[in-house]
Amino acid sequence: MIESEQPTQSLRFCSRCGGRLVFGPVEGEDRSRLACESCGFVCYVNPRLVVTTLPVNERGEVMLIKRGIAPGYGRWAQPGGFLEIDETVGEAATRETLEETGLEVELGEILGLYSRVVAEVVTVAFEARIVGGEATATRESLETRAFAPGDIPWNEIAFETSVRALLDWVARVRPDLPLPDPATIYRPPIDRAATEPRLAK
Ligand SMILES: [Zn+2]
Repeated sequence: MIESEQPTQSLRFCSRCGGRLVFGPVEGEDRSRLACESCGFVCYVNPRLVVTTLPVNERGEVMLIKRGIAPGYGRWAQPGGFLEIDETVGEAATRETLEETGLEVELGEILGLYSRVVAEVVTVAFEARIVGGEATATRESLETRAFAPGDIPWNEIAFETSVRALLDWVARVRPDLPLPDPATIYRPPIDRAATEPRLAK
């Protein structure tokens, strides 16, 4: 096994008995797992779901936030956040959008679902229509700004999953526009450092 295949190393103790978790073969499992050496409890580690929206105004522009928190501080992303245990995906999408932009949205179709293994997340992106509120800076955003499909600041986007969602959005709403080659889009080192704190590379 190579080191990068090992899941989250920040988990060290059993949530059931407090014993030490050890990564390795477990009977009945077809891959190595984190398991408690005292009680045998298997600790399954799965990606977290990040719920996001691409809020579109009446001029057909998408509202992005300039992030005011790490990771991706000072760079652009669509509003979103982690799904809480007591809410639906739809509730999370509208809640996070309001919290981060000040905008009330009505959800449309799912634009895409984006896995990012190194960050241990899956990001879902909804198209959304703005139905109320006012775009503003918030606790988590320095600024909320509208971007036309032809004016996306590709080299200043915070996350790789945001780039992919925005590429899909532009392709959907303005198929006539040329898209940048994803390989040429600048990715900041901060993205890597801030989203992979627990993986030794
Ligand atoms: Zn245990």
